[in-house]
Amino acid sequence: MQYFIDVILPIPLEKLFTYRINEAEASFLKPGIRVAVPFGKSRIYTALVYQVHNNPPATYEAKEIHQILDEHPLVNEYQLKHWSWLANYYMCSLGEVFRAAVPGSFLLESETIVSGNSDFQADESELKDEEWLIYEALQHQTVLRIHEISDIVDRKNVLPVLKGLLDKNVIRLKEEVYEQYKPKLVRYVKLDPSHSSEEGLQNLLDTLSRAPKQKQVILSLFSLSATTKKPIKVKELEVKSGVSAAVIKALIEKKILNEYYIQTDRVSFEGKSGASKELNEYQQKALEEIEEQFNEHATVLLHGVTSSGKTEVYVKLIEKTIAEGKQVLYLLPEIALTTQLIHRLQSYFGEKISIYHSKYSLNERVEVWNNILNNEPKAQIVLGARSSVFLPFSKLGLIIVDEEHETSFKQFDPAPRYHARDAAIVLSGFHKAKALLGSATPAIETFYNASQSKYGLVQINRRYGNVLLPDMELVDIKEKHRKKRMKGHFSDRLMEEITEALENEEQVILFQNRRGYAPIVECNTCGHSPQCPNCDVSLTYHQYKNQLRCHYCGYHMAQQLNCLACGSSELNTKGFGTEQIESELKELFPEAKTGRMDSDTTRGKYGYEKIITAFEQREIDILVGTQMLTKGLDFRNVTLVGIMNADNLLNYPDFRAYERSFQLIQQVAGRAGRTEKRGKVIIQTYNPYHQILQQASMNNFDEMFKDELNERRQYKYPPFYRLIKITLKHKDYNKVNEGAEWLAKSLRNSFGSFVLGPEFPPVARIRNEYIKSILLKIPPNQPLKSTKQVIKRIDNSFKAIANYRSIRIIYNVDNY
Ligand code: ADP
Ligand code: ZN
Ligand code: ZN
Repeated sequence: MQYFIDVILPIPLEKLFTYRINEAEASFLKPGIRVAVPFGKSRIYTALVYQVHNNPPATYEAKEIHQILDEHPLVNEYQLKHWSWLANYYMCSLGEVFRAAVPGSFLLESETIVSGNSDFQADESELKDEEWLIYEALQHQTVLRIHEISDIVDRKNVLPVLKGLLDKNVIRLKEEVYEQYKPKLVRYVKLDPSHSSEEGLQNLLDTLSRAPKQKQVILSLFSLSATTKKPIKVKELEVKSGVSAAVIKALIEKKILNEYYIQTDRVSFEGKSGASKELNEYQQKALEEIEEQFNEHATVLLHGVTSSGKTEVYVKLIEKTIAEGKQVLYLLPEIALTTQLIHRLQSYFGEKISIYHSKYSLNERVEVWNNILNNEPKAQIVLGARSSVFLPFSKLGLIIVDEEHETSFKQFDPAPRYHARDAAIVLSGFHKAKALLGSATPAIETFYNASQSKYGLVQINRRYGNVLLPDMELVDIKEKHRKKRMKGHFSDRLMEEITEALENEEQVILFQNRRGYAPIVECNTCGHSPQCPNCDVSLTYHQYKNQLRCHYCGYHMAQQLNCLACGSSELNTKGFGTEQIESELKELFPEAKTGRMDSDTTRGKYGYEKIITAFEQREIDILVGTQMLTKGLDFRNVTLVGIMNADNLLNYPDFRAYERSFQLIQQVAGRAGRTEKRGKVIIQTYNPYHQILQQASMNNFDEMFKDELNERRQYKYPPFYRLIKITLKHKDYNKVNEGAEWLAKSLRNSFGSFVLGPEFPPVARIRNEYIKSILLKIPPNQPLKSTKQVIKRIDNSFKAIANYRSIRIIYNVDNY
């Protein structure tokens, strides 16, 4: 009897590959165990066993495996099933899903780069001979490649040695460098409540009469509290009272002053940690409705306005699910996964929460993977960004997709180009679990599904604490310009509101959906504007670095003093980004502390954290930012939101542009006035009568939905028609053109007028590759499966044409 395994290789090839194994291996191996296998001329890969069987491959001689890497499956049957679905639905290979799904250190391969682990305290006696040789080599050289290691130990298969070294913590595999920043916690003080009555205070001052320094501190605390509503920092009090830190410490020790940290304060102010909050009547009603709807629908949409307290409703559902011994997956856009929310949930669930996202190190991710795989108590609740849908859940009871409308749930590059919300719904189906989608501004597709009773629908229409939704005011900047009531990009209305907010010691958020200083630099004399040499876009001016930068490929050059074409020194900028707004603010409001949140200021593991924490702790009065600001953040003291220019949202060339504009405006507005005072939103625009701006400013989701749906029906877009966008890329312009024509023609033979294009996208060249795309519309009655089969067949013929073989073809199913 012969034995074989089919394995998934982490590469873009469609097929599974078959390897020969012996009888003992056959009785040991199971799907989900990793094996090291030879592939191609001299490469070794980590592959995943898909199935064990007795059928030799028909067309090639099966090679033997090198080695078995795991004792138990690392990937379970649910995952294999889900991954196969993903590969099928999103038209990529199972290997690509495998590669995206597991932490990189699970995929030792020929290209892996190995470096020494500086934390390793050498106990050389523990190392085997070969291990010692590599350890030695790494003392002299910072990194080694697999072939170098192979030379050192003089053999081909080095994976066992590497595995040994990894297990002993001697080496690391290449991973990104993580910043060491830990979010800092600022210390604050307040007077202990026992002294806050007039009588208590008098007694206190009497008892302190023989401790003049301590008395001075108390008096300073009073004068500070009288002039500011802000919490008082220990540092500030030190400066004001002119005493040393020791004096304040003594007062804290005597329990006259209480010290606290804003962050811990925020989560513990409702009393004991561990107990979740009592829901108000609207939340309670929503919770009951959700549970009722779950009886009939596997997926329910919770449509609750911003700050209606959706999170607290999720918490109740999570409590019930883990009480039944089941796992919970809580999906969020990456940016919303900050200490804010993590602390909030940890205060309820403590150690039961694991967190998984791309800014975590490989080691941290491996740890979470293993905890989930082993169903450890630590991983009952997994809080994660989109890639958490790949984790080894075995008893999933509930998936929550918070901010389900968020576009960051979609992965654009590389494959699998999946949408985590949709992948999560399918995953919940495999587990017979429930899926709850939550949003204040649901995606059109989602709301449509709910309106068709495919999903359940539950709504909360008021904010927690009955705070009114913010008052939104549209400001016509064409008019303001005409009447000379603009200073830079600020209308008089926006300036008035900012001034008032600052006077009240409230905070302000300003939204501009572009980073950098100005997206275009133009010569006044000849009209030339510097372009990226690698992409078809103009370079964005970044004042802070005094550079011109390409936002597509990262190319940059120093800002020029003279026009590169004619030498004129009269250069002008067009358009504006967050940097320019920040610099105008500094002129207009020199007293205010400003901050900026965009992808230039938030790099590194704690990139967002730094800014969010500083804003929470009121070290920033006015925060300027891009759409990052819109993602489910909960600030307590923001009363004003300004949208600097709503028009460039609307003008985006995409059929979802209006839907997205509505969502963005509503979400960014939702950051204002979340506590007691009603928030204010100023929307600056050249088109104050635009239907979407009107609907967004009136909180009229239903109207927007109705209009959008009509448009979509009329022009054959989702949710009525499905879309597959097919993109071709190549360095050779003519080749892309020819290939795209050929492909479009072949597709038209099968799908006729439902094939649109080919056409160049607005940016038709990126990193020196030309891009052309074709859009396929799939009518409601046309089965998706056979459609994809036809596409696959055409794809195969395309790749059989020698001249086209080097063209990359990318399938974007659903075209998010
Ligand atoms: P959403 O997710 O709907 O935007 P959140 O869940 O963030 O809203 O709630 C908004 C604010 O109201 C939060 O600061 C939260 O702590 C508070 N909150 C919500 N529900 C309750 C409750 N039942 N008891 C006390 N505070 C609540
Ligand atoms: Zn010029
Ligand atoms: Zn570029």
